[in-house]
Amino acid sequence: MAKIVAGGCGSYDVPLLKEFFTKALAEFGALPAKCKVLLKPNLLSGKAPGKGVNTHPLFVRALAEILVENGCSVFVGDSPGYESTEKALEKSGIMQVMRDLRLGIAPFRKRVTKVNAGISPYRELVLGEDPLDYDLVLNMPKLKTHVMMGLTAGVKNTFGFVPSLDKAKWHLRCKGDNRLFSSVLMDIHFIVNPALTILDGIVGMDGSGPAHGRVRDLGLVAVSDNGLSLDAFLEKTLSIRSPLPLTSLGEEKGLLKEATLVDRGMPKIREFVMPATVEADWNLPPLVRETLRHLFTRKPKCDDKKCNGCKTCVNVCPAGALRMGAKGLLFDYKACIRCYCCHEMCPTGAITV
Ligand code: SF4
Ligand code: SF4
Repeated sequence: MAKIVAGGCGSYDVPLLKEFFTKALAEFGALPAKCKVLLKPNLLSGKAPGKGVNTHPLFVRALAEILVENGCSVFVGDSPGYESTEKALEKSGIMQVMRDLRLGIAPFRKRVTKVNAGISPYRELVLGEDPLDYDLVLNMPKLKTHVMMGLTAGVKNTFGFVPSLDKAKWHLRCKGDNRLFSSVLMDIHFIVNPALTILDGIVGMDGSGPAHGRVRDLGLVAVSDNGLSLDAFLEKTLSIRSPLPLTSLGEEKGLLKEATLVDRGMPKIREFVMPATVEADWNLPPLVRETLRHLFTRKPKCDDKKCNGCKTCVNVCPAGALRMGAKGLLFDYKACIRCYCCHEMCPTGAITV
């Protein structure tokens, strides 16, 4: 049985957050002390805290202060989509917290091969940081929608262990098939094996997340010893109708554990808007599913007025379905696998889905 401690928190007030974390962590045993800890926030790209894209720096600060006070040696890192970890940490405001508290940086640029005995067909996974180099990994996702997977929270956040552009290669290997991609996400999550997942849902994002949705004051903080159970809990909390690909596959494979909830004043979250791209969970043979996806899932498009010609989308597209023409961005929709990496990584929000 998994456990979830969840409650309301209306701001990033560090003393209040420390109080919440201290009580929540105590529900899972003794507070971590005198050990080497890796904090893995969501650091999608170098966006400022108010944009609701990355885990908030004060959220990281509150947890890191507790750990440092307990004699832990704390490291922070992630592998952003296309920038360096250092640049994204700086722009996100987390680097300043790291300087203030003298935290170490985990750049996620290693290539550590892990043998995988999980549910995906892939027997080897390469990670940018070895979780075994730390006594504890604490997973710190941001609560956001995701145009391909529906939500990005507990399990999806550990996909950041995959080094930079290798992420696009996984999209290509899975050809945008969200069931296959879910199996990879779960295998990575179970290899990383975070001791706890500590969710920043104070300011989150709905609509066309994870980068260009609507920033929402959701006021939720949740801590769990099981990232997948936390994801299922969030689907209920946000009144999402059908199970999303990750939790649906987790249930089918017997990996989704029941969870007990310790309710510390859960906020009421109303009208959480899901992305228009979220598919029904088509539990069909891969070829049929692939054909249906091509016919019915939304195509990415470019608003030329917003495009600055930076070609980030061209560089991250795993299928080579984009090129910059004389009059703007050109899509090859036959090659496009509907992974929406272009939408996620476009710095100006020019790509819509
Ligand atoms: S990433 Fe966005 S701004 Fe850059 S070229 Fe592509 S559409 Fe244009
Ligand atoms: S065009 Fe966009 S959605 Fe299509 S494959 Fe490339 S990155 Fe993915």
